[in-house]
Amino acid sequence: MSGIEFNRRLEAIPVYPVADSYGHDGELVKLASNETPWGPSPPVMGAIQGQLETLNRYPDPDKSVLRRRIAERTGLSSERVAVGNGSCEILLAAADALLEPGAELVYAWPSFSIYPHLAAQSGARAVTVPLDSDGRHDLEAMAREVTAATRLVLVCNPNNPTATALPVDEIDAFVGELPRNLAVILDEAYVEFSTLQDPDDSLDLLERHPNLVLLRTFSKVYGLCGLRAGYALGPESFRSAVDRVRQPFSVNAIAQAAAAEAIRHQDEVERRVEHTVIERVHVESELAERGLDTTESQANFSWVALGDRDEDAIVKGLAELGVIVRAGKALGGEEGRLRVTYGTRRENDRFLATLDTLL
Ligand SMILES: *Cc1c(COP(=O)(O)O)cnc(C)c1O
Repeated sequence: MSGIEFNRRLEAIPVYPVADSYGHDGELVKLASNETPWGPSPPVMGAIQGQLETLNRYPDPDKSVLRRRIAERTGLSSERVAVGNGSCEILLAAADALLEPGAELVYAWPSFSIYPHLAAQSGARAVTVPLDSDGRHDLEAMAREVTAATRLVLVCNPNNPTATALPVDEIDAFVGELPRNLAVILDEAYVEFSTLQDPDDSLDLLERHPNLVLLRTFSKVYGLCGLRAGYALGPESFRSAVDRVRQPFSVNAIAQAAAAEAIRHQDEVERRVEHTVIERVHVESELAERGLDTTESQANFSWVALGDRDEDAIVKGLAELGVIVRAGKALGGEEGRLRVTYGTRRENDRFLATLDTLL
């Protein structure tokens, strides 16, 4: 018996690389997924609890409260706000709405591990452009790859996994040179952590570029990745397109309520960003003292060069001692890298001390 026959596209769809957890009995330090180390704040917990008794009802398919709060915060019309089950859902919906066999999409590599799915699921051709030697997007090289077949350009700023960012004016000039019939998605999952810009700076770009979409998430600085909520800001046509290709109830009621509450507490966002920047300086300088180079991080993680040390041995060795980080190779990097998220000071120091036992 030969079993179920699946379609041919399926073979091309990569399996999302999950972080290894290994059999460590003690307390695990999870620094593999760029999560924040803090749980939901008390008002967000309150909003979550407030939903429990009405879970017999479907969630609001328009996500109206959440979209209105995002609109208030960004100064845009809520018609321009799309909300998704994580920003990844919006990325995959964008592939559905924009791409097809014969179309092309352009993105840098290494970059976010979901991007290869967009071509694989739609049958479009992915054109990947290597990052420059500092781990930054090479926008000139990307612009050269745009053809009449290009429908979508992805720019991840700050970039995952290399943590680097470009200033807004460079992105502005880049988008301005591209034809206006192709969509540019600027993935800003980590924008709050960047010291190169204020998150509001990129909102100005939306006024100049009618084909630009900013993609943001409640998973990172807001710390709600377990609930799944992300959003896109762009032209109204983009929101209605991604809404048409998805089921109406994809964002659950708890996620909508928690995100709508979390966005009201920008003081908490600032506190988290400050903590993260302090930990960034700490981890980067400690790594430098050990002779380990990092790219210039504008995010909540470091991209660490291990020199000629064995990447697998270090990542596995850390995991066996209860510290989970990502191997660079699994993220599309060249051999000899790891990506480590900043946790609490205690967690970061445990990472550093554990690393010392392996170096
Ligand atoms: C974590 C991350 C996201 C967020 O994905 P969600 O689906 O919103 O959790 C988006 N883009 C990049 C580059 C990321 O690293």
